[in-house]
Amino acid sequence: MVNIRCEDYGFDCDYSLDGDVDSVVYGYQSHMTDEHGIDYSSETLCKTVMKKLPKQVHTNI
Ligand SMILES: [Zn+2]
Repeated sequence: MVNIRCEDYGFDCDYSLDGDVDSVVYGYQSHMTDEHGIDYSSETLCKTVMKKLPKQVHTNI
């Protein structure tokens, strides 16, 4: 379970999303494209989301 908030990345936006890594990456990617017109690769977003996970979770993925 991970949570991502758009404003954490410097956007004036109250969008937030939580769920498992895959669904957060997918959902945030769609949000970025639809709302901000920014086409992030899922690889980039995956790394960003991973940074938010506690250390011990990293080894299980
Ligand atoms: Zn946003």
